[in-house]
Amino acid sequence: MRAFPIIVSSPSGGGKTTIVQRLLKRDKTLARVVTATTRAPRTGEKDGRDYHFWTEKQFLSAVKKGQMLEWAHVHAHYYGIPKSSVDGLMKKDICPVLVIDVQGAKTVSKKYPQAIKIFIVPPSLAELKKRIAARKDHTQDVALRLKTAKKELKEICHYNYVVLNDQLTQAVADVKQIIGAEKLKTARRVKDLKLSKIL
Ligand code: ADP
Repeated sequence: MRAFPIIVSSPSGGGKTTIVQRLLKRDKTLARVVTATTRAPRTGEKDGRDYHFWTEKQFLSAVKKGQMLEWAHVHAHYYGIPKSSVDGLMKKDICPVLVIDVQGAKTVSKKYPQAIKIFIVPPSLAELKKRIAARKDHTQDVALRLKTAKKELKEICHYNYVVLNDQLTQAVADVKQIIGAEKLKTARRVKDLKLSKIL
């Protein structure tokens, strides 16, 4: 198998972080690409594990040097993906998992055409609102996030797969199944089959 990037998107509060955390627990063939951000850490978030918490100066300097795969200014903060994080994992034959918004997904999939894109949808907008509110992040603007969510949901057609995040265990199992099937795709295996002289 040749490693390929796995892009996971959802509106804010859709459950992408939770699903990916569970997915990566026991699977050493996958690793999350840590995003850099200028927003403040939420309770329990750890620098380097959940995000690279950078100052605005650090962030803009990395952008200027062309070290970011993509970046955006969302809800008054910068978010971006250091290119080296993705390439470093692929070199080790580990699939980089990118938890990113729809704009980021567009940019990244243009640069990595072999990537797969999975969209996580909440069961309803009412449930999404509840989950955002339950996250105990008092700095977030729930109304603004819901408005953005409606726009983002319209981008679903650009994704290869849609996973409904109603029951968490089912959603995680669905994502596992998608990745399992993708790893077995002929186009991803030909090189290895040739190396082992089967082809
Ligand atoms: P995102 O990373 O997409 O912004 P999170 O993973 O942070 O979303 O999830 C938002 C909130 O919803 C969290 O408090 C999380 O525990 C909760 N959550 C996620 N999936 C489910 C689910 N299937 N059922 C109930 N709550 C969920």
